Amino acid sequence: MPIFEYRCTECGCNFEKLHKTTTEPKPACPDCGSWEIQKEFSTFSSVGPSTSGTGCNSGG
Ligand SMILES: [Zn+2]
Repeated sequence: MPIFEYRCTECGCNFEKLHKTTTEPKPACPDCGSWEIQKEFSTFSSVGPSTSGTGCNSGG
């Protein structure tokens, strides 16, 4: 199930909402109850190359 991140433009708080379907209505701010919510793009932490340049050495 996708988790969408929302940010309240009223108080500025951000929260996550678990969506079962993609047709879920926009939630209200759990902090102030405002409907001025902006959808944020969730950031997926992809496993990439580390900062250290120690890759797999192909020893022949
Ligand atoms: Zn709010």
